[in-house]
Amino acid sequence: MTKAKALIVPVTPFQQNCTLLWCETTSRAVVIDPGGDLPRIEDAIAQSRVTVDKIWLTHGHVDHVGAAADLKAKLKVPIEGPHRADLFLLQHVETAASFGIENASNVTPDRWLEEKDQVQVGELTFDVLHCPGHSPGSIVYFSPAQRLAIVGDVLFAGSIGRSDLPGGNHRQLLNSIRDKLLPMGDDVAIISGHGPTSTIGRERASNPFLRSGL
Ligand SMILES: [Zn+2]
Ligand SMILES: [Zn+2]
Repeated sequence: MTKAKALIVPVTPFQQNCTLLWCETTSRAVVIDPGGDLPRIEDAIAQSRVTVDKIWLTHGHVDHVGAAADLKAKLKVPIEGPHRADLFLLQHVETAASFGIENASNVTPDRWLEEKDQVQVGELTFDVLHCPGHSPGSIVYFSPAQRLAIVGDVLFAGSIGRSDLPGGNHRQLLNSIRDKLLPMGDDVAIISGHGPTSTIGRERASNPFLRSGL
């Protein structure tokens, strides 16, 4: 079976985990959440000797999407995701430049994603899970075969996403984690938008936000 490989590149002052993800068999890749620091992302692509076919976005916050339009222009590849409910964020990326991210651009995806959609890179297939709460259009990319999920700012090692930003909702976020993430299975590895990687099992057992009851 073909394997997924991932290289995490922390970008922007928010240390956002831009993830270069590729199919080992074909060396076809996606860049997930290119928030900024484009030269570092381009270095990672060159070092990995992969061909980028697409850009995937988990949600519309500036630290995740700030360099998406520039990267698309350079690589001539389409942008997929997030869910359409984050349109209002993607249209106001430039006003968020005051958060210390330079050259952030508004961005329009080529394909909006919804629950039950599937996206592909090389021979890998990821299911799209709509997980609102951190932002209304947050999505998670989950490969049941690879036991791997890219969860954006929905769930972190030892924490969960903020829900005090525009369109955020704490109850909705907990429901997304309970109904969409925990059922993926304890052996599933997660790459979060910030901080270290983890697994669903580790978070189910030790994440204080999940222990207090969902
Ligand atoms: Zn966010
Ligand atoms: Zn973030």
